[in-house]
Amino acid sequence: MKFHLEASFRLSADAEKAEAVVSDFFGNAGPILQKGAPVGQGAKITAWKLAGSKIDLVIDSDRFVRAHDALLRLRRPLSELLGKEFRIGVRGLDVNKFEIEVESERAINHKIPYVREIRFEDGRLHLSLDVGPKGTLGQSEMENRIPDRIISLLEEKLQSSYGGKTEHWELLWESAPRPPKFTGDPTEEMQKAGWIKHGSSRGQWIYGPEATHVFRTFEKIVLEEIVEPLGYREMIFPKLDTWDVWKKSGHAQGVYPEIYFVCPPKTRDPAFWEEVMDYYKVTHEVPLELVKEKIDLPIGGMCYAQCPTFWGFLQGMTLPSEEMPITVFDRSGTSHRYESGGIHGIERVDEFHRIEIVWLGTREQVLAEAEKLKACYKHIFEDILELHWRTAWVTPWFMAQEGKTGLSEMSGAGTVDYEAVLPYNGNWIEFQNLSVNGEKYPKGFTVKSQSGEALWSGCSGVGLERWASALLSQKGLDTANWPEEFQKRIGKMPKGIRFL
Ligand code: ATP
Ligand code: ZN
Ligand code: MG
Repeated sequence: MKFHLEASFRLSADAEKAEAVVSDFFGNAGPILQKGAPVGQGAKITAWKLAGSKIDLVIDSDRFVRAHDALLRLRRPLSELLGKEFRIGVRGLDVNKFEIEVESERAINHKIPYVREIRFEDGRLHLSLDVGPKGTLGQSEMENRIPDRIISLLEEKLQSSYGGKTEHWELLWESAPRPPKFTGDPTEEMQKAGWIKHGSSRGQWIYGPEATHVFRTFEKIVLEEIVEPLGYREMIFPKLDTWDVWKKSGHAQGVYPEIYFVCPPKTRDPAFWEEVMDYYKVTHEVPLELVKEKIDLPIGGMCYAQCPTFWGFLQGMTLPSEEMPITVFDRSGTSHRYESGGIHGIERVDEFHRIEIVWLGTREQVLAEAEKLKACYKHIFEDILELHWRTAWVTPWFMAQEGKTGLSEMSGAGTVDYEAVLPYNGNWIEFQNLSVNGEKYPKGFTVKSQSGEALWSGCSGVGLERWASALLSQKGLDTANWPEEFQKRIGKMPKGIRFL
């Protein structure tokens, strides 16, 4: 990796009289420019010129001290020197040229902010950055480490091509095989029985009384087996996530292809919308192109991962030690994902129902809580639902949703997927997960502990459509075939809606 930077320091006055001192300073700047780098490596000043109230500099460097870091490192000692002896201040800096070379086996073609051109030549990518005053790479962008972010992004792109991503998956535990009582497709079966019907939107279902009762019974099981014994408190998390929330949760890095965007109207003035209303009244068609002109930019999207909005409650706060671990859950609304071609029955839908369990405390508390939850889940899936299921250690959801693969670097943090086999096609589906998210959320939302000890958190998403798919695909719709403990809890099935 190579950096070539041409920049100037803007001075408060003509500095010709300081020429000798400046020359001495740049001549002896080696230690500043090589600090932290292996011997003989780092940045160097290739050329410099004092021209009135401006010092032009050319810095060339390697990866060890990047040229923009070198430039920023020079600023303070230079202004101290000029200030003390000559009462001249360093007002700011301008970037005149910034080029980066990165080793690469292939060309890449991406639109990256501040990058004017990427050329591939002799096993290297040559980047020319857009420099200059406004909207381009200048002082504040240097200080905000924009060049470093550009390089990280390039490295990310060179490492992975979208198709080639492999998620981590490692079996942890598998239940007894438990021969299925049923081998049909539960969605088809429920449709035939009139338990569910397609909603008007893609990947959306209308659940009739019978299916709803099954979902509510799952909720009751979670309440009785987890929430009550472990003392989780119910909360209501918002279901519209703003960009601000997703910036803090990390979702802003990669969630776009799967979200439903939310746009408010540009104004609620009926006169502004009159043309739309009139068009509809005459044609009975909604004029979508016209609507598009009258709505504002998206303010965010509909609930995707359920727990991010919770953190607004704790944002910027310090938590008393005796209150921890804090354990809460939400079941107040739907989650929405644009699953595209992947939708299938109730197994993969665009609108789904989920209970989200969230806990936070010290690392030890969070890891201990995760074990308690796992024990409760095991009891539910073994003794109440009697599933053929397994657990696997996978790429943490918080990395997957930022577009990353592999495992978390925080020891003990990570995601356990719970999977059940679907006898009708032999596939395993993830019906819920449990994650220890390390410091990610408390850091993202600046939540601190009284003791100053690092805060950790965990969350677990219980997907009701997925629980139903797991249970009904293995046991069918005939209540007589349902496990005894589940039958006890389901009680009497409600009467469905019949048609002529
Ligand atoms: P998958 O790999 O099946 O797409 P995911 O890894 O995207 O799942 P998570 O982001 O971990 O799922 O979401 C947590 C839980 O939310 C899942 O375990 C599942 O119960 C539920 N869930 C996620 N996406 C859907 C969906 N499209 N339809 C129904 N339930 C879903
Ligand atoms: Zn969560
Ligand atoms: Mg998914």
